[in-house]
Amino acid sequence: MTVGDVLKHKHQGYRCGMCEHEFAKDSASCPKCGSTEVEPIQPVYWLSPVGDVDDFGDKITDTIYDAPTRGGPWALMTQQSWAVHARSMKLGTGMGQRFRKQKDGKWLKVEG
Ligand SMILES: [Zn+2]
Repeated sequence: MTVGDVLKHKHQGYRCGMCEHEFAKDSASCPKCGSTEVEPIQPVYWLSPVGDVDDFGDKITDTIYDAPTRGGPWALMTQQSWAVHARSMKLGTGMGQRFRKQKDGKWLKVEG
């Protein structure tokens, strides 16, 4: 996996080791804090089996969310379920992740 491969994916690029700011641009330093401790973000895949339906029984197509629900626990959700049941529309560490199905069948993290 090269940097070029990583940059093909939207929302993936580089992450600052100091402030954890993520940016797509190929830069030797963080545009937010100026730190030079920047690393390419490696692709992250959803590794658990994904069934035909999500935790709310909605049919899964090409997008899934792993995010906390209003009821409390985290759940696997389709776009539709996420819009209804998600605790927050925000994604990120501790808030939820969005995955998109790739041609090879793997689920790539695209946001969060
Ligand atoms: Zn930074």
